[in-house]
Parts: sequence; C-alpha cells; structure tokens
Amino acid sequence: MKTLLAAFAALAFAAPAAEAAPDVRFRFDPCGGPVLRIGSPRFAVEFGGRCKPVHHHRYRTVCEREWVPPLWQTCVVGYDHCRRPIYRQVLVREGYWQRVEYRVCDCGHRTRC
Ligand SMILES: [Zn+2]
Repeated sequence: MKTLLAAFAALAFAAPAAEAAPDVRFRFDPCGGPVLRIGSPRFAVEFGGRCKPVHHHRYRTVCEREWVPPLWQTCVVGYDHCRRPIYRQVLVREGYWQRVEYRVCDCGHRTRC
C-alpha cells in the first residue's frame, strides 16, 4: 500500500513547476473514516472510505396523456407545364392524445410501462 501511495504521490508531484504546488489534504469522513487526497490541479487521487447510500427504486405507476404529433410526408401532387413533379407536404395522420403509463420513482427515474 505504501508503494502504491508513493507512486500516486509521485504522479501528483510530477506536474510542471509552472503549475501550483501539489495539494495534499487529510479529512475525516463521518461515515467512511479518514480520507487522504493527493493531487495537483490536473490530477488527484483519494484514499479512504466514503459511503454512498444504496438506493433501491420504489416505483409507482403514473398515467399521463401524451401528444403524438401529426405525421406529414412529402409527396408528388402533380406536374408543372415542363412535366417536373410538384412536391407538397401531405398530412398522412393527424396528431392525437394517448394515455401512457410510466413507472416513476421518487428519485426522478422513470420508465415507460
Ligand atoms: Zn429511485
């Protein structure tokens, strides 16, 4: 572990002299214990525990209305006097509302059912 720590420290201190001095910090994370941070403005490594709370999604089903936009298609609607085609946008299907069910978690994650 000491050799690994020394290697990372050497990497952190290897920054060009023009940059700021290496940054070595020690702090105590209340739920993870001691944390040692060695770095420079461009590179940093942290050693120590840091706990992240595990989140399990709790979904509830939500039903929403969703707008399905109209479908337009470019078609040949005729020919001019030089027999060149005349193109126009033609409505193939009108827009409509539909009901969609989503599974929503309190954290904001959502999936479509
Ligand atoms: Zn969640």
